[in-house]
Amino acid sequence: MSLNIQDIRASFPILHQEVNGKPLVYLDNAATTQKPLSVIEALDYYYKTDNSNIHRGAHTLADRATRKYENTRELIQKFIGAKEVEEVIFTKGTTESINLVASSFGRKFVKKGDEVIISTLEHHSNIVPWQLLCEEVGAILKVIPINDKGEIIFEEFEKLLTSKTKLVSIVHVSNALGTINPVEEIIAKAHAVGAKVMLDGAQSSSHLTIDVQKLDCDFFAFSAHKIYGPTGLGVLYGKREVLESMPPYQGGGEMIKEVSFEKTTFNEIPFKFEAGTPNIGDVIAFEKALEFVNTVGKKQIVDHENELLAYATEKLSSIKGFIPYGTADNKVSVLSFLIQGMHPFDVGMMLDAGGIAVRTGHHCTQPLMNRFRIEGTVRASFSVYNTLEEVDRLYESVSKIAKLKNK
Ligand code: PMP
Repeated sequence: MSLNIQDIRASFPILHQEVNGKPLVYLDNAATTQKPLSVIEALDYYYKTDNSNIHRGAHTLADRATRKYENTRELIQKFIGAKEVEEVIFTKGTTESINLVASSFGRKFVKKGDEVIISTLEHHSNIVPWQLLCEEVGAILKVIPINDKGEIIFEEFEKLLTSKTKLVSIVHVSNALGTINPVEEIIAKAHAVGAKVMLDGAQSSSHLTIDVQKLDCDFFAFSAHKIYGPTGLGVLYGKREVLESMPPYQGGGEMIKEVSFEKTTFNEIPFKFEAGTPNIGDVIAFEKALEFVNTVGKKQIVDHENELLAYATEKLSSIKGFIPYGTADNKVSVLSFLIQGMHPFDVGMMLDAGGIAVRTGHHCTQPLMNRFRIEGTVRASFSVYNTLEEVDRLYESVSKIAKLKNK
């Protein structure tokens, strides 16, 4: 069954506007996706009807808010295939989820001389927390190299693994190139030397079906805003036994069992890692984003995005001066490119003048850009509500822009 994209588009109010006198073509979905009306209305409804603080309240509103908040947690459990609902922790986003693991797991289990492995494809948020940790404890950060197509070199990864490897933290899908990493193989190899594995699922959560039990990853992080949900909200999944072995990340309300000036005991997971009043309204609204994905169907979404990506790649490749970055065999949603002789920022500005929103720059992956000896790229990233006609508009505009320098 093919998707009715016009019906889907009708539920995204933001798409129906003109930008610079042209109908908006939103192709910056890897940065953040747009929100369906159901999410926007759920947020509105929460603040008009249920707003109250959760878990401790002895009144009806608090009870309603708590139930809805915990309901989203259950939906996420199913969405990522976690064994238990307590393994789902709410955070501010992927960035905070990774920092939580670096700070809590890292400080406890990574010692002087130990090793942490990441890859050249990482977003800064999966580089800097590990650098900070390694500097603090005297551990060594190792980086898996990539080939010219933007794929990790698996044999090199195997060579980096040693008995000192405590953690491998790797991006599931690259935000800059779209490469899908062979994470199942990575996880199996890492586990064989006794290392834990963290997956940065910021991009994969919206494009791939996630089953953390099948993957057997120890941690999985993602952000609600990249999967049709609100900003400022994310998830950290962790295996129960690993989470229980870790100290709290932040101290405060909610994460304690009992507090005295002499000693504090901590709450059970997930609350041990959720200090303070959480982002209640956004958690509740996120349920609607997940419902949207479940209703449309992950496979249908991915098939549609793959069709758009294949069409865009084929069309834009015919443009004189078009240079693609990230040509992995296994990739999703992202078309990163440069136009010969032009700065990516200028290309982005000209596209914006025609109502087309793309991202330009290093995409928070400076070491990856350095690997290709470039400052940045132009990145078009596709989502379920994009159409082939929008790809045609991208193609026509890029063609015109490229002709300015490539006669
Ligand atoms: N990792 C990847 C691969 C990403 O694409 C992003 C967002 N661009 C992040 C991590 C960070 O996500 P957030 O800013 O939502 O914390």
